[in-house]
Amino acid sequence: MTTTHTTIDTVVVGAGLAGLTAARALETAGYDVTVLEARDRVGGRTAEHTLSNGERIDLGAQWVGAEHDRVLELVEEFDLELVSQYDSGTAQLAVSGTVFEDESPFRALPDEAETDLVAAVDRIETLRRRVPLESPADAPNADVWDATTLESWLRETLDTDTARRAFEAFVRAEFTVEPAEISLLYFLAAVNAGGGLEGLVDGDRETEASRLRGGTQQLSRRLADDLDGRVRLAEPVTAIDWSGDDVTVSTEDGTATGSYAIVTVSPTLAGRIDYEPALPARREWLTQRTPMGSVLKWFAVYDEPFWRADGYSGSVLADDGVIEEVADATPPDESCGILVGFVAGAPALEWSDRSLDDRRQRILEELSQYFGPRAGDPLEYVDKRWTKTPWSAGGYNAAMAPGALTNGSQALSDPVGPIHWAGSETALEWRGYMEGAIRSGERAASAVRDRLP
Ligand SMILES: Cc1cc2nc3c(=O)[nH]c(=O)nc-3n(C[C@H](O)[C@H](O)[C@H](O)COP(=O)(O)OP(=O)(O)OC[C@H]3O[C@@H](n4cnc5c(N)ncnc54)[C@H](O)[C@@H]3O)c2cc1C
Repeated sequence: MTTTHTTIDTVVVGAGLAGLTAARALETAGYDVTVLEARDRVGGRTAEHTLSNGERIDLGAQWVGAEHDRVLELVEEFDLELVSQYDSGTAQLAVSGTVFEDESPFRALPDEAETDLVAAVDRIETLRRRVPLESPADAPNADVWDATTLESWLRETLDTDTARRAFEAFVRAEFTVEPAEISLLYFLAAVNAGGGLEGLVDGDRETEASRLRGGTQQLSRRLADDLDGRVRLAEPVTAIDWSGDDVTVSTEDGTATGSYAIVTVSPTLAGRIDYEPALPARREWLTQRTPMGSVLKWFAVYDEPFWRADGYSGSVLADDGVIEEVADATPPDESCGILVGFVAGAPALEWSDRSLDDRRQRILEELSQYFGPRAGDPLEYVDKRWTKTPWSAGGYNAAMAPGALTNGSQALSDPVGPIHWAGSETALEWRGYMEGAIRSGERAASAVRDRLP
């Protein structure tokens, strides 16, 4: 074992988009940084994979929103290529044992259910505007809304079973939690931080406008290039000692001491690090009430996107079965056809523990129901169980349990002595997206810069 000891201005924990952004900002401002990363690669929840045919896919974050300015700036800076999301044709919504079809899944619902669902979406849009972005706990009725699970609100608000199930499928697909796991207030705050529900009913979600040719992990690799030699891979941080004037961050291989530390791992993983002295009680409490969502992401690869010829966009939202969402991820030259999708929420917990053969068989069976027998016979099937991925412990992101948001939730991002916190979960805007991760890294770097000489 090599033991390394470094003394620098700032130690950054985690080389995902938040950590690398923070480190690059400090480095550019002329400060010394060291980034300690548990994995043997950078990028965290962005993860590329090369298919047998050479095509690159995103096993983690994939879509870039039209208003994700920081991501788009990096795309331009690094001269990367955006590919528009294919959405022409018929979408499908599988709920209550029926597959409804229209250009948007929600427009496919029978009239009564559609009216019901549109009214609920409008209500959410009205309520979420009453939730301040920076302090959701200051919303009117915050206590009541934080004590009400989203599931109970949906049961009270929606008159038709079909509309409620469709909404639940959306919640699972978008947040990878069961509606019973989060409060109405948390949902409103999360919708707010993600730019609202505009376009949801018409199937025109700006958050899924495009993806990156070659994969989103390129962003992190390019950021790390600018930090040559300052990113230490395969060094999980085990302890942070902030008892003295400096902060000493320990890994199995050594330590790094800085004037400040920026911890960019998700709350759950931050809670697994030993701190000396212990962190404030409220922060400790919050890290235990902000668990990761549950998701399995899969890809099925075909010789061509045959569903397009059949008039389908490839888009499916489902409450029936184990698949929650499907989308078309075919490369622009159509050299092959690719369907991508998610098993999310409670089904992801169950299916993550099934064998690869079982998962493949079940997912392909369901795809055949949507797109016909050809969908059941792909050239290649790949999946990634984020629920069982070390150093992520779930995905897409973390979500707070009911009652947490109104109990000092800012303690998750407030600095503790020399320790600052970043990561997608701490972002005000675009929380839970790559955009939020980048913005959180910028925010933490700027706060540390203000304290450094
Ligand atoms: C399946 C999936 C699909 C997604 N889809 C999208 C999408 O389409 N669009 C979008 O914008 N976002 C999407 N997201 C969310 C997005 O990936 C994340 O919000 C964002 O990448 C988080 O970045 P981060 O830097 O905050 O955290 P992370 O990427 O989790 O980075 C944290 C880093 O810390 C490291 N680490 C953890 N513990 C330790 C330790 N003890 N010591 C040292 N290092 C440690 C980890 O290995 C990791 O590299 C998706 C996520 C998943 C999982």
